[in-house]
Amino acid sequence: MKFDLNEEQTMVRKMAHDFAEKEMLPTLLDCERRREVNLTLIQKMASQGLLGVHLPQKYGGMEAGYVTASIVWEQLSRASWTQTLISLGHAVLAGTILSKVANEEQKQKYLPDLCNGSLIVAMAAVEPNVGSDASAVETKATLDGDTWIIDGSKNFITAGNLADVVLVLVQTNKDLGPKGLALIAVEKEVSGFTATPAEMVGGWASDISNLSFMECRVPKANLIGDIGRGLQNALIGIDTARLFVAAGAIGMAQSCLDACVKYAKERYQFKRPIGGFQLIQETIARMYAEIEATRWQVYYAADLKSKNAPHAKELSAAKWLSSELAVRVGAEAIRLHGAYGCTNEYLVEHHYRDAIMSTILGGTSEMHKLTIGRELLGINALS
Ligand SMILES: Cc1cc2nc3c(=O)[nH]c(=O)nc-3n(C[C@H](O)[C@H](O)[C@H](O)COP(=O)(O)OP(=O)(O)OC[C@H]3O[C@@H](n4cnc5c(N)ncnc54)[C@H](O)[C@@H]3O)c2cc1C
Repeated sequence: MKFDLNEEQTMVRKMAHDFAEKEMLPTLLDCERRREVNLTLIQKMASQGLLGVHLPQKYGGMEAGYVTASIVWEQLSRASWTQTLISLGHAVLAGTILSKVANEEQKQKYLPDLCNGSLIVAMAAVEPNVGSDASAVETKATLDGDTWIIDGSKNFITAGNLADVVLVLVQTNKDLGPKGLALIAVEKEVSGFTATPAEMVGGWASDISNLSFMECRVPKANLIGDIGRGLQNALIGIDTARLFVAAGAIGMAQSCLDACVKYAKERYQFKRPIGGFQLIQETIARMYAEIEATRWQVYYAADLKSKNAPHAKELSAAKWLSSELAVRVGAEAIRLHGAYGCTNEYLVEHHYRDAIMSTILGGTSEMHKLTIGRELLGINALS
């Protein structure tokens, strides 16, 4: 059992940490105020190899393993988890699916450009009536000769408006239920496709959009993977997205703790720094202990995933605990900063707004509890 970072992880950690400080933080507030995605970040991350940190070298990735990837996602999220999400979340979700499921021609077509920052590929499973139960997808794909015709709607899709291509989870034959599901790549310029940004509690410098497909015609060859395995193939990407969210939540929580330590020494009340009061020290000590314990749970799940070992309950525990922790620490950090914590003068307010979204993306806390229950009891509460 080793608890120290290796040379590559130490180097990548510093690179990502410096990137967050120098490239993300200085423009974050301005982008949030203007509700604008900072597109230059994607190029800058690509030039440092940060986009495809977990993707195969053959297609332009770093192939550095999931512990290293988690370290990168954690460090970048210390500045902003949602800005990290919009800059490289597509490589995490769609990039993983393409690298594991697409045929060689499709991999060559999409992955090198995705890693070099010139192509954004979103993945759309969730719909107005379909959330946690993705097996119930209603968006329809009908084969007409050599063309798929796609009709339906998708909601809350990361980079849905920015994306050049969307991997859409579709139903090809309602009678087959989940066995009719498939993933089809839809290119943005296709007629009948529209994207409308969703206004959300956080992610103000991000893009989460609702998509509509009205008789969108795409080539038969755009099928990614097999018909009947659409849900399983989507879940391959969602598994990596869960790790991304867990690592990002640790980054948000750590950033809040750092802000609290600094503020507790600077802010004086009753003629003393507030950090001199035992109640404030208890708050900070609890944050530290919970973040430290949960970080190791995240790295442990990442290590199992890198080794291709079973990791469902470990990753569910990491995702559930870290995202809920980020919300709790965010709220406590705001309280510790008093009214100033409610303004955008301090980052804690930004993290708090984003953290609540991290409890939902990649599966809600309830879904992760049910996964752990299934793994421990051998009883699936959902079937
Ligand atoms: C920031 C962000 C980015 C996103 N990006 C994407 C994306 O790129 N692509 C994509 O496809 N989707 C994306 N989503 C959507 C996300 O995957 C869904 O929001 C999530 O799967 C939950 O679905 P829902 O919101 O419809 O909630 P629902 O499934 O309707 O759940 C509502 C509530 O009921 C609970 N619940 C549901 N079923 C059960 C049960 N059996 N037992 C107990 N409780 C239950 C849930 O835990 C939740 O609290 C994103 C969401 C967010 C917030």
